[in-house]
Amino acid sequence: MKFKLRPNETVEWRSKKGTGFWARMGIGVVGTLLFLVGFQFLSEGWDTKVSAGLILAIAIIVGYIAYAIRGNVIEYRLTNQRIVITTFGRVTKEYPLKMWEGKPVSQYLKYHVSYHGGGPRYNVSILHPKTLDAVLHCKDINESTITILKKIGHIVKCKYCQTTNSVFNARCSHCGGVI
Ligand SMILES: [Zn+2]
Repeated sequence: MKFKLRPNETVEWRSKKGTGFWARMGIGVVGTLLFLVGFQFLSEGWDTKVSAGLILAIAIIVGYIAYAIRGNVIEYRLTNQRIVITTFGRVTKEYPLKMWEGKPVSQYLKYHVSYHGGGPRYNVSILHPKTLDAVLHCKDINESTITILKKIGHIVKCKYCQTTNSVFNARCSHCGGVI
């Protein structure tokens, strides 16, 4: 099923799975090694050591590229109604935000921060509130995204009809009143 917004659904955050800093570093390092092995081949000719090095470097680089492609085709969306995971634009998994309603942030949002070139970057996991399995892992995201993700379980009561709404809702899901 292709991803489509439902009535009154708004996207609060959207991101590719991402490859992360160390994977990009890895591609750089292995690429350099490949270049050096190639250079040695050109200057000294082909021998077993050079070919073994070349095969290893190519294998690692193919692995990294596959990893990078995967990070680019898997996409996450947080809407005011659900978390949706798509692969090539098709929905592979979705979780209603109701699952996290009223749960403490510390229980479902795990992240660690790193600093490389500029501000803090986060690797984040959002956990299923019951099984505590990660429903998504996202790499290399910024501080303002963390602020949004922290609101996943937050709810507000409509002042007109007392219906419980996600904080992401601009209008009440029941009566349409402005929240
Ligand atoms: Zn209402």
